[in-house]
This record gives sequence, structure tokens and C-alpha cells, in this order.
Amino acid sequence: MSYDPKSLKAEEFINDGEIRETLRYAEEHKNDRGLVESLLQRAEDCKGLTHREAAVLLKCEDPDLIEKMYGLARRIKERFYGNRIVMFAPLYLSNYCVNGCRYCPYHGQNKHIPRKQLSQEEIVREVVALQDMGHKRLALETGEDPKNCPIEYVLESIKTIYGIHHKNGAIRRVNVNIAATTVENYRKLKEAGIGTYILFQETYNKEQYEYLHPTGPKSDYAYHTEAMDRAMEGGIDDVGCGVLFGLNLYDYDFVGLLMHAEHLEAVHGVGPHTISVPRLRRADDIDPDQFDNGISDDLFARIVAILRIAVPYTGLIISTRESKECRERVLELGVSQISGGSRTSVGGYAEDEEEDSSQFEVSDTRSLDQVVSWLLDMGHIPSFCTACYREGRTGDRFMSLCKSGQIVNCCHPNALMTLKEYLEDYAAPETKEKGLRLIEKEVERITNPKVKETVIRHLHDMEGGMRDFRF
Ligand code: SAM
Repeated sequence: MSYDPKSLKAEEFINDGEIRETLRYAEEHKNDRGLVESLLQRAEDCKGLTHREAAVLLKCEDPDLIEKMYGLARRIKERFYGNRIVMFAPLYLSNYCVNGCRYCPYHGQNKHIPRKQLSQEEIVREVVALQDMGHKRLALETGEDPKNCPIEYVLESIKTIYGIHHKNGAIRRVNVNIAATTVENYRKLKEAGIGTYILFQETYNKEQYEYLHPTGPKSDYAYHTEAMDRAMEGGIDDVGCGVLFGLNLYDYDFVGLLMHAEHLEAVHGVGPHTISVPRLRRADDIDPDQFDNGISDDLFARIVAILRIAVPYTGLIISTRESKECRERVLELGVSQISGGSRTSVGGYAEDEEEDSSQFEVSDTRSLDQVVSWLLDMGHIPSFCTACYREGRTGDRFMSLCKSGQIVNCCHPNALMTLKEYLEDYAAPETKEKGLRLIEKEVERITNPKVKETVIRHLHDMEGGMRDFRF
């Protein structure tokens, strides 16, 4: 098997030989100060780095050079994402699962975890609760079970969710994180109006993947790894990748992740819309200490920073698996989307759990308002924007706007206007006060006079009850 980023075969575009060779090269060159400095200098142009180049940065252990990496990551983040942080929440629809994933408590052999699937009425209750928190963007999560949780159920649920308008609330973007499926099903998801299709690779190492997924449809490495190509063939042009750090050697998966991004760019002309960086957590019958590949917070921060440098246009997502302290650190190094007020159990928003069906223990347990308030204290703009996808700015249209730097003319005003909606409808008084002060300051930074005038008018209109303005 030889390496070919343009191939549609998993083992050719995620090529084991190329990954090992890359890691050997990185090990050999990690102390080459000249090389590392020249890579950092080149990456200032925000055109990214190859998997091989990024691997050299990852292996480099020089504290001074690592500081330089952090500085560059901060600059790139500032240039493309400014101080905006997009907010979302996961919504667990069903934890029925026929797979045997060794790290996930939903695995079929777990006979004591309560199995639940939300009815459409229960979905309404969950979504009303999420809307009452202020959320506008969801990531749907399900286990894999063709009988109990078929695609028709997911499609019906998406329709239900988009149809719920409680007070001023609305879910305006539904992202979907469900198991690898067929082109036909991806086409149906696209028609249902999903935003991003998210699928974590878990690990790119085939042998380790097969060990971790001994049974069920997910055990097929090639089918799982080639899912994004099928999604794109089905018309979904925003896809979200990720690995579950802790399952396999981090450096192998880091290189695999970037090779996957390069493959999508080479074949479909557009790389992943987002990359998630989940780390393994304790869960019902899962003990993370049983896995040997956990990574420290320092290494985790380095991974985030180098991803920011290597794929500047790709959104980076961090969930409540991470603590407040850890999230604070990686926010400035490149993360652009975070979840808040999350529940990882089926039905967890509308009612307090009697029986725990959660997928993993959440580390950051604060409410959405607490998270918003904390972001404001750090000078970030919590953004509830969903405009790009609703304006058809997806796939390569989004990427070219992003690459030209023009996207900021939409994102910044949209962030301010959606934050204002949040403050008007959901914020605690103290959060509202802080948020309004930030908006006032940020409006002054809008350079285009026409845009500025429109934003000021819309912000005013919102006080009179109007909603959902966007560029
Ligand atoms: N079932 C779908 C699939 O197989 O791809 C995706 C939905 S699953 C609810 C979402 C993700 O949760 C998985 O892809 C996995 O990376 C992550 N996950 C599973 N067990 C976890 C654990 N113990 N700690 C942290 N994340 C976990």
C-alpha cells in the first residue's frame, strides 16, 4: 500500500507507512532549530503546514520554540477568529448501540446502563429547555443501532427540532454526530438541512482501531475512515473530524488527522470545516486509567496550538469533557467553538436524571450563562451565530471567504448581534450588563461605515423585540 492523498481507499490516504516515516522524520529533526524557526516563519502567512512539517513542531521540545509556537497560534487565531467564540450544546437522542467500542459505555455488552431514546414529544421538551438556556446551535448525538435508531428517526428528529419556536427561541443550526453511513443517508441528512456532519475517527491506527472496535458495524476501519468522502459525495460539504485522544499514541493520530484534512482538500477541494479534540473521560463502566495513552494538559495545549498553525481555516472545537482551566488555556491558542451547559445523557436537559444514561462525565459543569459570563470576563465575544450555513456559505464558498479574510465582515457583526439576542432574552442581569458593555466597545471596531450603521440599527431594533438579523 503506498501513500496517495487523492486515493479514495482508507489505507492509501491514511497510510501507515507514511505516518511512521513522518514520525521518524520528525524525531530526527525535532532539535533542528533552524528548520523549526523557518516553519514558524512560513506559517505566519496563514497558509498552513503539511502533516510532516506539523509533526516536526509537535516533536520539538525546546521551551523557547514552544513559546514561539504559542505566539504564532495566538496571532493566527486573532487574525481569523478575532475574539469570537461560537457556542453550542450536544443533544443526545438515543444511546441504543450495537457496537462494541471498548472506551464507550454505550457498547452493546453494557447491560446495566439504562437505554433510552427520546420520543418526538421528549425532544420538544429537551429543545425547549435548550432554547430557554439561549442555545441556537446543537450537535445531535446517537449510538449506532439500525433497528432502534434508524436514519428515519434522526431525520424526523431534525425536522421536529427546526420546527420548535418557544418564546424567542429557535435552533438555527443542527449539526449531526452519528455513525458512519451510506451516501444515500448522507444525502437525506443534507436535505434535512444539517449544518456539519461530525464523525470522530477515534484513532487512525488500523490495528488499534480494530482492537478498540471488536464488534458491530463500526469495527470496519475502511468504512469508518472513508465516511467523510461518502458524506461529501452525498452533498454535505461541511464535515467535522476528530480523534479521541487517549486511545492511541497521540503523535500517530495527530499526523493521521492532518493527513485526513489534506485528503479531503485534495479530493473534494475543501478540508474539514471543524476539528474536535476530545480526550477520553471516565464513564459508566469505563475507567480511563485502563488506557495507556492519556496525554497531559501541556501536551494537549501544544496539540491545539499546532493544529491552529497547520489548518488555520478549520474551526477547533472543545467540549465540556475539559475543565474550565484547560478550556481557558486552549481558547487563546486556537479553539473557536465551545459547548456550554452540556448534558451527555439522553433527556438530561428537561429533567434531572434518576438513572444515569450519560456517555461520559462532564468536567466543566457550569451553566451556559456562567460560561458566557466567564468568556466576557476574558474579553471574548460569545457568538450564537449560525449565519454562514443559512446564507449558503458552506464548503468551498466558506473557505474562500475565510481565506480572503472577508469573513470577518460577517462574523464579527453577527457575533455581536446574536450575543445581544442572548443578553436580551436569557442572560442574568450581571452577564447582561457586562455583555452590553462589550458590544458597545466592539461596535466601534467595525471598520466598514455601512456595516457599522446597520449593526447599530439592528441592535436598537432588538430592544424593540425584533430578532434574527444577520449578514
Ligand atoms: N455513535 C457515533 C459514532 O460511533 O461515531 C457518534 C456519537 S458518540 C455519542 C460521540 C463520540 O463520543 C464518539 O465518537 C467518541 O469519540 C466519544 N466518546 C465515546 N466514549 C467516550 C468517553 N468515555 N470519553 C470521552 N469521549 C467519548
